[in-house]
Amino acid sequence: MMRQLTILGSTGSIGVSTLDVVARHPDRYRVFALSGNSRIDVLAEQCQRFRPRYAVAGSHSGAKKLRDRVPAETRVLWGDQALADVASDDAVDSVMAAIVGAAGLLPTLAAARAGKRVLLANKEALVMAGDLFMAAVAEGGATLLPIDSEHNAIFQCLPPAGIKAGVSRILLSASGGPFRDMPLSKLAAMTPDQACAHPNWDMGRKISVDSATMMNKGLELIEACWLFGVSPERVEVVIHPQSIIHSLVAYVDGSTLAQLGNPDMRTPIAHALAWPERIEAGVEPLDLIRVGRLDFSAPDLERFPCLELAMAAARTGGDAPAALNAANEVAVAAFLGGSIRFTDIARVVASVMGQWQVREPRDLATVQQSDRRARVHAEEIVEEGRIR
Ligand code: NAD
Ligand code: MG
Repeated sequence: MMRQLTILGSTGSIGVSTLDVVARHPDRYRVFALSGNSRIDVLAEQCQRFRPRYAVAGSHSGAKKLRDRVPAETRVLWGDQALADVASDDAVDSVMAAIVGAAGLLPTLAAARAGKRVLLANKEALVMAGDLFMAAVAEGGATLLPIDSEHNAIFQCLPPAGIKAGVSRILLSASGGPFRDMPLSKLAAMTPDQACAHPNWDMGRKISVDSATMMNKGLELIEACWLFGVSPERVEVVIHPQSIIHSLVAYVDGSTLAQLGNPDMRTPIAHALAWPERIEAGVEPLDLIRVGRLDFSAPDLERFPCLELAMAAARTGGDAPAALNAANEVAVAAFLGGSIRFTDIARVVASVMGQWQVREPRDLATVQQSDRRARVHAEEIVEEGRIR
């Protein structure tokens, strides 16, 4: 069967890897829509190569630039409504949700409500609005398949009958990022380029910074709770610097199952594209002899205060994860833009969370209000330089 695929965020790291896998299987996948925010050149080239029915730019000016550079069969659209439309169109089977940050929430929700097969890379959508998102998946009859390598690994290791069938714990792997062994006194001076130089993974800049602070692992803990229906106490973060074991599931009988592979996102992408089948992904086979050894340790919460802030937000629940995510997005953008130091990211998030009045995210409007409120507060802290 030929699957029609929409890729939200096709110009990013996950989007490009998805197209790499898709190009290996022209008999299985047809690209229905592509989308990109700023890299119009890349989006134009992708349209020339994959000839989608729609290309969605982030702005009117982006759409104007794109129009002359796409094949005649590709219609150029722009903006949030267009993203939601191409994610929920009747002709679409599968949607790769690979927009970074809160901007991905609405089109990803639209895909879930429309009952699509949703390949979820955009963890921030689930962190912000887990309850609403999971309800939309259930009501729309969508199939939710995790792309985040850890969650994809857990999905592969879970029993077919689900988490209740004898699972005791989930072990979430973390590389520890580029600053795992850096003297603490040097962290404040780390530049955006140093923070984005991940030892094992090549990713977009926002998630790279999140990996360096380990906020990424905190967001992933929250993501795991929603995806697999577990409480945060049953998810344990394990530092594993080689990034070969992508996560593990421990069972009541003493068995622990792991999924291993080279750190290459094309593996989880191919897994989710073809599930329950398997397809070739272009990934080098794992050579365990060359890897040699696999190490494990506990995370250092003094080094990674963002991980502790996220764990606290996971335990608090309500709209605390939405606030955490929004404050973090503002702080990471400020760090990447050069206006705060690396160690200020955790301080900005801690200041917002320290004063946060938790509410229940009843509907989308409440979630968006919480997101807005936390952003405004974080922006004030950054602008006024009120960092503790
Ligand atoms: P990226 O920065 O490389 O790409 C982001 C994509 O989103 C681009 O196509 C960009 O144009 C689009 N985008 C950004 N802002 C937008 C906006 N306001 N409106 C519409 N589109 C917008 O990011 P990435 O590394 O590909 O990550 C994408 C998502 O996947 C993130 O949520 C990240 O946490 C998750 N993820 C990534 C990896 C990885 O290896 N890169 C691994 C696991 C999870
Ligand atoms: Mg991950």
